[in-house]
Amino acid sequence: MNLEEYRLAGHLSPGKSSDKADDRTGALIHEILLVGMLQCNCHIVGDPATREAIVIDPGEEVDRILAAIKRHGLTVKAILNTHAHIDHVGGLKKMREVTGAPVLMHRDDLELYRNLEMQAEWIGFKAPQMTEVDDFLQESSPIRWGGYELRVIHTPGHTKGSVCLYLPRAAGSSRIIEPETLFAGDTLFAGSIGRTDLWGGSFEEIMRSLRGKVLTLPDEVVVYPGHGPATTIGQEREMNPFLRGV
Ligand SMILES: [Zn+2]
Ligand SMILES: [Zn+2]
Repeated sequence: MNLEEYRLAGHLSPGKSSDKADDRTGALIHEILLVGMLQCNCHIVGDPATREAIVIDPGEEVDRILAAIKRHGLTVKAILNTHAHIDHVGGLKKMREVTGAPVLMHRDDLELYRNLEMQAEWIGFKAPQMTEVDDFLQESSPIRWGGYELRVIHTPGHTKGSVCLYLPRAAGSSRIIEPETLFAGDTLFAGSIGRTDLWGGSFEEIMRSLRGKVLTLPDEVVVYPGHGPATTIGQEREMNPFLRGV
């Protein structure tokens, strides 16, 4: 990945030379790596104080992800998956083996995950190795690591078990003010929404998820889609052709 791709993924503003700055200022550590043929956005999100981290969607290129984790001096507490499409799950097995952290995904995508070979065949990839899924992502069970808490929002439509992961600002937190963040998987993109013509996809359902859940979030929430650049809820509410007037 070159610097331009990195910037386009929403991580760097032009001129900012290194994410190491986050470590120095005590702000949330957040590194985005574009992995695999389909350039899935893999996120490393770390607590600068405790050095605990989560990894979201290690789709491939696990060695690069592990190198970034090491560079930040982080310990991975959980490996989260926004949905079980092949470009988001390919590195789960190796990440789990190396870090010892549990793999979590939504129960409704298990069947899709078990059909990795079929997905691989369809897309012309070699099927990645599968791993055990240690636990399920559920709306009622937030993910906690370090001083942070991530809420699970089940947003079916792109796949049955698609989730968005919402990192709100902690109430009364003394940590540096950071924007609220949504890791949207392939449910919402800058200017578009996830395709619904693949296994278990439903246009009605994705619209219901977007209307009833995602768009209830505040305008200022920064959205990191599963591919492409970052955006905000407000920007998409106003400009996204699928969401205008919804
Ligand atoms: Zn997908
Ligand atoms: Zn994807």
